[in-house]
Amino acid sequence: MIIIKSVEKLAELRKSLETTLTIGFVPTMGALHSGHIALVKNAVKESDYTVASIFVNPRQFNNKEDLKKYPKSINKDIELLNNAKCDAVFIPEEEDLFSGFKGCDVNLDGLDQILEGKHRPGHFKGVVDVVFRFFDLIRPHKAFFGLKDYQQYLVIKQMTEKFKLKIEIVGCPIIREESGLAMSSRNARLSKSQKESASLINKVLNEVSIDFIQDKTPQKVKDYMAHKLNSDKNLRTEYIEFCEPNTLKPVNSFKDIKEIVICVAVFSGEVRLIDNKYLQL
Ligand code: AMP
Repeated sequence: MIIIKSVEKLAELRKSLETTLTIGFVPTMGALHSGHIALVKNAVKESDYTVASIFVNPRQFNNKEDLKKYPKSINKDIELLNNAKCDAVFIPEEEDLFSGFKGCDVNLDGLDQILEGKHRPGHFKGVVDVVFRFFDLIRPHKAFFGLKDYQQYLVIKQMTEKFKLKIEIVGCPIIREESGLAMSSRNARLSKSQKESASLINKVLNEVSIDFIQDKTPQKVKDYMAHKLNSDKNLRTEYIEFCEPNTLKPVNSFKDIKEIVICVAVFSGEVRLIDNKYLQL
């Protein structure tokens, strides 16, 4: 696997690749786990040449402490990518990556202002900036994103459509630990008991079935879920929303609704975790 640390070297590599090759791209912030590696394996399967990136993007952190405490394991990351048959990894420095870059100005029709966007102001502006920059430098044919960050997947799809970029955005399933907890780099910051508590997030999401919501309003189900989560001393629910899967607009009644995605953000101790569940009604 080729390790590239500068924009200049990346440009050289991109120029050297045959024009007939399909390029797959997997952006990450490192501290890689099986969720990331599943994206890489999908990319390797679906493309001729796979490029991953490792960059903890300061622009998408609204919380300085979260940025400071973000886990890092660069040597292990390189080994994991290599084992997954990734062809190249781009590990840029912030100054080099954004040098001369004016940012990405795109109207996301409010998709970036709700849920994660509401609770983490500026987050999606930072995400869109960095992904647009990577797309411009790497010019992939396909880019792979985890459905764990469901809103991010929709935001990137919308950005790609608005700019009419010829990049297929591929959403990949959520990879979970045995306990059901969605894998996340931030899980490394949880104590044993916080991690145990955090596994309740998926259990509570899984309680919501077609049978369970019969004769209940979304608000009633949300109240039940929040009560159950907040009853655990380690957990504090930030939001639970029932959303329309394409727009993430709130679903306030189950009448005539065919599908929903339930999005949650929950603190376990100081660590903020997100998860979601798609449900066909
Ligand atoms: P991150 O390093 O957290 O920015 O994540 C990089 C990519 O990996 C994003 O597309 C995430 O959605 C994806 N990802 C993170 N955790 C998981 C998971 N548990 N399952 C599937 N994809 C994931």
